[in-house]
Amino acid sequence: MIYNINKVREDFPILGREVYGKPLVYLDNGATTQKPRVVVDAMVDEYYSVNANVHRGVHFLSQQATELHEASRETVRRFINARSTNEVIFTRGTTESVNLLASSFGDGFMREGDEVIISTMEHHSNIVPWQLQAARRGIAIKVIPMNDQGELLLDEYEKLFSERTKLVSITHVSNVLGTINPVRQMITMAHEHGVPVLVDGAQGVPHAAVDVQDLDADFYAFSGHKVYGPTGVGVLYGKEEWLDRLPPYQGGGEMIQTVTFEKTTFNELPFKFEAGTPDYVATTALARALDYVTALGMDNIALHEHELTQYAMNRLREIPGMRLIGEAEHKSSVVSFLVGDIHHFDMGTLLDRLGIAVRTGHHCAQPLMQRLGIEGTVRASFGLYNTKEEVDILVAGVERVSRMF
Ligand code: PLP
Repeated sequence: MIYNINKVREDFPILGREVYGKPLVYLDNGATTQKPRVVVDAMVDEYYSVNANVHRGVHFLSQQATELHEASRETVRRFINARSTNEVIFTRGTTESVNLLASSFGDGFMREGDEVIISTMEHHSNIVPWQLQAARRGIAIKVIPMNDQGELLLDEYEKLFSERTKLVSITHVSNVLGTINPVRQMITMAHEHGVPVLVDGAQGVPHAAVDVQDLDADFYAFSGHKVYGPTGVGVLYGKEEWLDRLPPYQGGGEMIQTVTFEKTTFNELPFKFEAGTPDYVATTALARALDYVTALGMDNIALHEHELTQYAMNRLREIPGMRLIGEAEHKSSVVSFLVGDIHHFDMGTLLDRLGIAVRTGHHCAQPLMQRLGIEGTVRASFGLYNTKEEVDILVAGVERVSRMF
C-alpha cells in the first residue's frame, strides 16, 4: 500500500455512512469527490472567524480574508506549476472556465469562417460554449475522430488544421472512457500551426500531477469539487501573454481600474477576469484540498487508482455479457460498461439498492454516445480512497443484477 488507505478513509466522514442499511460504496468520483475533514473545517473556520469581503476593506478581517484568498491562488499556482499567480483565474468551475475563454477568445480573436478544433469525446461543457460562439459569429467546429478503443486519431487531427484554425479545445481525460489523451503531443502539433490550446482538465487534475509548463498548455481548466475541494470554485489557467491580450469576460466590481460613465479601464491580471465577489471561502478550502492530495502524493494517488482500475476491468471482464466501453492504452480511473441488454439505468438503480453509487446515462457526452451507438453506460469512477474490497462489492453487485435479468 502506497499510503494507509484506512487512515485516509477516516479523513472522509461520509465514507462511514450507510445507505439502505448497507455500507456506502462511493464510485461516482467522476461526478464529484467527497471532502476530507480539513476542507470542510477550513470553510467553517473561515466563516466563523475571518469572514469579510476580499480586496475591498482596510479593516483587519478584510485584509486577513484577502491574504487567505491570495495565498490560495499561490497554492494553485504551485500545484499546476504556473509561472505566476497572474495566470491563475478563479472561476465557478470547469464549465465557467471554458465559457469564459470561449466568450473572451471569441470577442478578441474569432471572426466568421474561423475554426475551432474539439474532439469526439468532449463533455458538453466543451462543446456547447463553442456552438454558442458558432451561432453568434459564424465560426466552424471541427471534430477529431477516435478509434473503437476510445483513442483520438492523431493523423486525422493533423488534417483538421487550416489557415482559419484559431484554437484547439480538448479534454485531458475522458469522463466516459477514461482515455488519457496525449495532450502534450497534441499541443506541440497545434503550436506547429501557431494555434493555442485549451485543455479541459476536469478529469485530469484529480488523478495525476499536472504541470502546465511541461504540457505547454496555453489554457487549462479544472473544477475544485472533483479534486476533493468544495463546489462553486474552479480555475482557468492561462499564459500571461494570452490573458493580457484577451478582453474581459464579465463586467463589474473588482475587474476595473477606473470607471466613468464614458469609459472604463480594466484591472491588472488576474483580477481583469474576476468580476464581483469571488467565493473566497471556497478558494481557501480548495487550497486545503490541494495541500491534502499533495501530502498523499499525486504519483501515489495515480498509482493506487491505476491498480484499482486494472483490477476492476479484469474482474468485470469475467462477467458474461460484459462490454467494457473505453479500452485505451493510457487510461485513467473511469470504467464504463454495459452488460448484455440490461439498460444502464436498471443496472444503476439496482446497484444503488446494494449501497453502490455509480453513474448511469450519457454523462453529458451525447455526441460520444452517438459515435459509440449507445444511449448511455454505467460508470464506476474511482478516487484516492476507494479500495479493492469496494471493487469486489461492485463486481458481486453487477453479477447479482445480471443474474436477475
Ligand atoms: N469536463 C469534463 C471532462 C467533466 O467530466 C466535467 C464534469 O463532469 C466538466 C467538464 C464540467 O465540470 P463542472 O460541472 O465542474 O463545471
